[in-house]
Amino acid sequence: MRKIRSIATALIAMLAFAAPALADKELDTDVVIVGAGTSGLAAGVEALQGGAKVIVLEKQAKVGGTGNFCEGVFAAESKIQKRIGIDVSKDFAYKLIMDYSHWKANGALAKAFVDKSAETIDWLDALGVKIEYVGVGGFGGPLTWHVIAPGPDYPAKNPRDFHCERMINVFNKYVLDHGGKILLETPGTGLITENGKVVGVTAKDKSGEKINIKAKSVIIATGGFANNKEMMKKYVKDYPDVIPVGQIGKDGDGIRMAEAAGAGLEGMATVQAYRPGLAGFHPADQMIALAVQPYFWVDPRGERYTDESNIQLWPYSGNAITRIGGTAYSIYDDETRKMTVEKGIEMPLGEWVLQGTKLVKWEESFNKELAKKRGNVYKADTIEGLAKQLGMDPKILKASVEKMNTAAAVREDALFGKKSKFLRPVATAPFYATKLLPRHLGTLGGVKVSAKGEALNTHGDPIPGLYAVGTDSGGMYGDSYDLLLGGGTAGYAVNSGRIAAENALKNAGITK
Ligand SMILES: Cc1cc2nc3c(=O)[nH]c(=O)nc-3n(C[C@H](O)[C@H](O)[C@H](O)COP(=O)(O)OP(=O)(O)OC[C@H]3O[C@@H](n4cnc5c(N)ncnc54)[C@H](O)[C@@H]3O)c2cc1C
Repeated sequence: MRKIRSIATALIAMLAFAAPALADKELDTDVVIVGAGTSGLAAGVEALQGGAKVIVLEKQAKVGGTGNFCEGVFAAESKIQKRIGIDVSKDFAYKLIMDYSHWKANGALAKAFVDKSAETIDWLDALGVKIEYVGVGGFGGPLTWHVIAPGPDYPAKNPRDFHCERMINVFNKYVLDHGGKILLETPGTGLITENGKVVGVTAKDKSGEKINIKAKSVIIATGGFANNKEMMKKYVKDYPDVIPVGQIGKDGDGIRMAEAAGAGLEGMATVQAYRPGLAGFHPADQMIALAVQPYFWVDPRGERYTDESNIQLWPYSGNAITRIGGTAYSIYDDETRKMTVEKGIEMPLGEWVLQGTKLVKWEESFNKELAKKRGNVYKADTIEGLAKQLGMDPKILKASVEKMNTAAAVREDALFGKKSKFLRPVATAPFYATKLLPRHLGTLGGVKVSAKGEALNTHGDPIPGLYAVGTDSGGMYGDSYDLLLGGGTAGYAVNSGRIAAENALKNAGITK
């Protein structure tokens, strides 16, 4: 019975996505791209440069998607790396990606991405997108994160603002200035297929008009399924309620369209695990910035469960909190609070809150949340009092605090071997607790693709005319997000967009 129901559901999905409904408007182009974010706009620029007619569909009123939030892109052997003596070879980066995933990633796809990455920095430079500096993704990783500099189209309001937004502005302007069309508030709704080939896309504009766009090649770039609760539940089984950060309208549209046209899927369970935190708080919020300092985190029983300094490579802290069921509490005392306000934080939050930032806005943020009594923050004069508020056995929390205080006194963490510089006592009242929950920056699984960005069917054969890029494509990761590789996801979005566009042009018979 269940099988019949799932076949029926699949058929309904196929009809919804495969059959071109009677349209109010018919358009014709060489390449249609569904999604005007990082990967879709990069594909658009590349396709226009190659001489194609291009239409880009965008669901939102504004282009950019998650690309409006990121800061830098990956490259190995770029000119700027070579100029300043950063020795990260393509082979080294490639091995790092594959070893990190235990070779669960798609080796050919990862190789194509790494090999293209340095030339992409030149390509960005020629478009006017400059690099401010090259940094690491997570501590201990190689210098591959090419952070985008503010520029004339995007002067920094705050120098630490969303750097990739600058790149998005340049892509957007390029597409519009070179004859491409970007249809805002016009989501792609399905694929048009003929004899097993994808020959176009159906869409709906904001007035409700249905549009059929015939195209020689279609590129799916809708940015994954972070906001689709049903898909999260179905695929991200270990923690489907993981809180999405920077995701709007990511309903898995592209992946579902491609699946309805016969595409296979890969890596759907993996998300871009982020620093634990709370829903509805800006990544630069100072209350969260203090809570994720690597000092003393406990599970709901009151026991320490991890080396807190794993936050330096936040997929690790994302994995650790998921393992304990998804809820932890960061507990700190008044000395630690004072230290972060007066001297500044030890652990930076990427470009959002830099190392040494004095958390002068902590009090305002913490007290506001405390007054709301939502169970996110707590304050007490004793550890026992805090334990009671948190629903913990006071004896257990007290024992954990005592072990922490001993570790801080002897400068050795007998439990998890944390670096001694992050060992701080929890001894001076009042005591504070902030709840931590798993968060993510997007889904990482999607349509199974070849190294050329072709969407593959469940047998591994290319579906003619269909390409998938960025976070709509799977295969770049194993079971965990890899932060060692700085700029990996945005870099993959730009490079996969370019690679797919080159091949979409060949498929369309367009050669420069
Ligand atoms: C806060 C934050 C910081 C980050 N920092 C970094 C970083 O420094 N380095 C890094 O490598 N990565 C970073 N990332 C991740 C990186 O930004 C993303 O992996 C990348 O931008 C994804 O690109 P994409 O093209 O797949 O999706 P997006 O850029 O999100 O584009 C998808 C687009 O498709 C649109 N869309 C959705 N459905 C439809 C539809 N049916 N029809 C038409 N359009 C549709 C969306 O509205 C969106 O505009 C960060 C992410 C966040 C949230």
